[in-house]
Amino acid sequence: MTVASMPEVARVANFIGGELVDAAGGEHFDNICPSTGEVMGEVPDSDERDVDAAVAAAKRAFPSWSRTPAAERSTLLLKIADLIERDREQLARVESLDSGKPVSLARKLDIPRAVANFRFFATAILHESTEAHATDTTALNYTLRQPLGAVGLISPWNLPLYLLSWKIAPAIAAGNTCIAKPSELTPVTATMLARIVTEAGLPPGVVNVVQGFGAKAGRALTCHPDVSAISFTGGTVTGAAVAANAAPRFKKLSLELGGKNPNVIFADADLDDAVATSIRSSFWNQGEICLCGSRIFVERSIHDRFVDRFVAATKKLRVGDPLDDATDVGALISEAHLAKVSGYVDLASREGGHIATGGRRLDRPGFFHEPTVITGLTCDCRVLNEEIFGPVVTITPFENEREAIAFANSTNYGLSASVWTRDLQRAHRVASAIDCGTIWINTWLLRDLRVPFGGMRESGVGREGGWESLRFFTEAKNVCVKL
Ligand code: NDP
Repeated sequence: MTVASMPEVARVANFIGGELVDAAGGEHFDNICPSTGEVMGEVPDSDERDVDAAVAAAKRAFPSWSRTPAAERSTLLLKIADLIERDREQLARVESLDSGKPVSLARKLDIPRAVANFRFFATAILHESTEAHATDTTALNYTLRQPLGAVGLISPWNLPLYLLSWKIAPAIAAGNTCIAKPSELTPVTATMLARIVTEAGLPPGVVNVVQGFGAKAGRALTCHPDVSAISFTGGTVTGAAVAANAAPRFKKLSLELGGKNPNVIFADADLDDAVATSIRSSFWNQGEICLCGSRIFVERSIHDRFVDRFVAATKKLRVGDPLDDATDVGALISEAHLAKVSGYVDLASREGGHIATGGRRLDRPGFFHEPTVITGLTCDCRVLNEEIFGPVVTITPFENEREAIAFANSTNYGLSASVWTRDLQRAHRVASAIDCGTIWINTWLLRDLRVPFGGMRESGVGREGGWESLRFFTEAKNVCVKL
């Protein structure tokens, strides 16, 4: 059976109370394959009724699941991880088909990370401890961290299973039950995960999946009175809408939003490494990673040399069929997103930029865009301030450390940055001065799941990762015992 003919691809389902079901209204919409532009399946067009049913199932499952011993929860999560690992090739191929990403990347990044997410939180909960505060000889306080109840998890299309599992794993490890709303553009691996959690023996209702549009199913989830928390990853504008709905209902809220990340390269950097890694941080996943370093700043003395080498390496990237093992850059997620990316390339020309390479969509079916490098723009241009989220980067020279920091901080975003230098003192100084949640020195996307992860300013509110995730998905209750 080819991946495209798998029943999960042809007919995506909701997963409510342990059953794969259709939307209550029986309506569907088409799932479009990014690399062909053709319809490859149907997705339930869920609404409030489906969200109500999923929340009810999650509420029913909560009392028993929240009292299940941590060791049992851990065993079930480890089993889920094993089953994802068993099915890794099929999951990687489906993710590639559904999102347009190269299958080689799904094999290397997305699916292993989904396995790691479940293993990490499965074992983390075995090592939890809690604080106690002795008030002189008068009282002893201790902190109980208890699960919240039914929580809502909303994830984007760029790293579908990777980000879905990054939310589901800590939520259920901590004893919550959940309702996940994947992006309507990449619904398939969520349905496959539903089958996997059933096979692993997870009790019905612990994980529920409601497919459909954000403005309908997603919105209903953020407004639902019985949903205790919303963990959202997506764009900044959507994040504001989610916060507007969730905050007045006093839900706990975690917002992981967009980025316009600087990649700062000083003249003393290891140029080979900086060029090779910057190619990845620019064009991996077609530039559709929130952490991509789309604004490259290079110290003027090496600027031209860097541009020459970077452009030459960009030209070597193979753009094409995501299911071909040799492909480096696949298809963008949708026609609308391709139009947005092309629009920014046109804007770059109007703003006075020079297209050093790329600049056009590919003349073939599907939503392909050439990896594109733009020079000659300054920090006040829209192209350097707005998230493009595609295979488009700018390269801008800077004069000195002070200017590099000012350029890095010149947007409203604050998600991540990379800094390239062999000067240790400078690395620490610049890391401290750039306003964002993650700074990589001489590397990019090196992730340790224990570290706090999140953005500042318009890149988000709150942190995920390690204890931060487990704290988000629990309520801290202080118990004061008079001595
Ligand atoms: P969107 O903000 O468009 O969508 C994210 C999710 O929210 C989707 O599931 C979407 O559903 C849903 N949604 C849309 N409208 C609403 C609403 N009113 N209420 C509730 N849910 C809603 O983001 P994209 O999917 O386009 O993903 C790309 C964005 O995600 C980029 O900005 C990127 O930077 C960011 N991102 C951030 C990361 C981080 O960790 N900070 C990591 C990865 C991506 P639907 O798709 O059906 O509309």
